[in-house]
Amino acid sequence: MPGDADAVVVGSGPNGLAAAVTLAAAGLRVQVIEGAAGPGGGCRTEELTLPGFRHDVCSAAHPLALASPFFRRFGPAARGVRFAHPEVVYAHPLDGGRAAVVTRSVADTAALLGRDARAYRRLMQPLSDGGNAVADAVLSSMRRPPRYSGALASYARLARRSAAAVAGRFHTDEARGLLAGAAAHAMLPLTEPPSAGVALLLGSLAHTVGWPVVAGGSGRLTDAMIDAIIGAGGQVETGRWVRSLADLPRAPATLLDVSPRAFLAMTGERLPTRYRDALAGFRYGPGICKVDFALSGPVPWQNDAARQAGTLHLGGGFEEIAAAEAAVARGEHPDSPYVLVVQACVADPDRAPRDRHTLWAYCHVPSGSTVDMTARIEAQIERFAPGFTDLVLARHTRTAAQEEAENPNYVGGDIACGRQTVRQVLARPAVRWNPYRTPLRGVYLCSSATPPGPGVHGRCGELAALAALRDVFGVREPPDLAAGLPGLPRRGPAYSATQSVMIAGPASPGGGRSRRLAGPGGSGPDRNRPRSSASTVTVSWG
Ligand SMILES: Cc1cc2nc3c(=O)[nH]c(=O)nc-3n(C[C@H](O)[C@H](O)[C@H](O)COP(=O)(O)OP(=O)(O)OC[C@H]3O[C@@H](n4cnc5c(N)ncnc54)[C@H](O)[C@@H]3O)c2cc1C
Repeated sequence: MPGDADAVVVGSGPNGLAAAVTLAAAGLRVQVIEGAAGPGGGCRTEELTLPGFRHDVCSAAHPLALASPFFRRFGPAARGVRFAHPEVVYAHPLDGGRAAVVTRSVADTAALLGRDARAYRRLMQPLSDGGNAVADAVLSSMRRPPRYSGALASYARLARRSAAAVAGRFHTDEARGLLAGAAAHAMLPLTEPPSAGVALLLGSLAHTVGWPVVAGGSGRLTDAMIDAIIGAGGQVETGRWVRSLADLPRAPATLLDVSPRAFLAMTGERLPTRYRDALAGFRYGPGICKVDFALSGPVPWQNDAARQAGTLHLGGGFEEIAAAEAAVARGEHPDSPYVLVVQACVADPDRAPRDRHTLWAYCHVPSGSTVDMTARIEAQIERFAPGFTDLVLARHTRTAAQEEAENPNYVGGDIACGRQTVRQVLARPAVRWNPYRTPLRGVYLCSSATPPGPGVHGRCGELAALAALRDVFGVREPPDLAAGLPGLPRRGPAYSATQSVMIAGPASPGGGRSRRLAGPGGSGPDRNRPRSSASTVTVSWG
């Protein structure tokens, strides 16, 4: 394959793989080149703490994958991927053992919100009734007006506003907390638009598709895409960082799952000044500090319903979360941060040994921060779940600087690969008719720095691949992902047994020949994690 691929894809995050899947389904020979020791980018699962504890290294909750038009066509279920749904989609604990709780039903969720029940129903019911309409419009290239629907009209009315503006509809701590918790995913101050849009999208997805985890770990989704690429004759090579376009094998099409900053570095002076300036002016958001825990039991949330939740938003009421996010935007590390928590074992108990649990948590920090927020994250969990720290068997922490060291797409630790301001949502990374096309012939950007932005939905990759198919290969019809690819379900846990994935790396004899990738007992990603010294693991037997 090296040297005779129709298309080369740099980066094997969900967007790089979605691009490769789309191109392979069209019958092209695809070569994926990944810098890290293992594939998957923001969609991986590893034993970060102790043997048998399988942690999602990055993404854990998958409303966007379920709602994504790409994954709906790809058909993860037919390829052996199971989404595991918790009973409570997400919870927002408050002091004194109270909590707001979101379930799949708008009516049931509203019923628990007291005097805000009607306002919640009025906000969410039209979006929920619209089914996929809002997600289809948001998970698009943003180039054409979406097809009109009542749900979309309701969404569009509020989406460009700030969460603070929409919070005025609610009176109770519970309803206002729910809004703040969902809006803060935007990594923007809650007074800044379009934080309301993010809250409404994620809030409505809770009712339309849920926020599941992937049974066995997010890495299973990556495995399914790699199986499809390799089954169609493609190749995935790991451990090869691309510093310049000149390093790449010659191919009619090149798709880059990289940040605008990395693209600039790869191309040097080859880009026209105007486009170069636009990429140089692309703004990145704050970073995150993430902690994964191995626990001796479930988290003892004071609120019973919170114990059933897949995702939890911590940080108190609307004003407290707004203050924490505003502090991060000012370059400060809040003492009482907004903390996102996923307890995967609630829906997928096999993530940890019997009666043990994993816990995934992160908070926002200023860009490039080297501050270890473990103690502040733990204090926030302890606030709503007294006794939590007694359960900690081991913890693994990555600061924002370490996030970037592990994956250069996360510039300064920004896991969204670019601030989600209104301008940068609508035109990422530069104002262009086709945001995936670059001024270099046959070269496309396909990372989450392109529309529709961050999340595991694969749409940036799919839409970039469709542009390349049209421009370079004259293929106008989107390929049939169900029929155009083999779909053999994988057996056994991802990366914990000998892989059937053919990986070619520089270490393999001959430089580019395929070799079999072994699991943790051999030389797989668990053993060979790139720059493992960049993160901290502390193990304490309790
Ligand atoms: C801690 C964390 C939690 C998250 N939680 C969620 C969640 O719960 N749900 C959700 O939907 N999303 C979540 N996300 C966001 C989601 O993971 C990303 O938006 C998504 O992975 C972006 O996909 P991508 O393919 O554009 O980039 P990435 O997944 O970042 O992949 C890019 C890949 O390209 C490789 N690469 C970059 N530069 C080069 C180079 N020069 N040469 C070779 N290879 C290169 C990188 O090593 C990486 O493997 C989370 C992210 C993080 C980090």
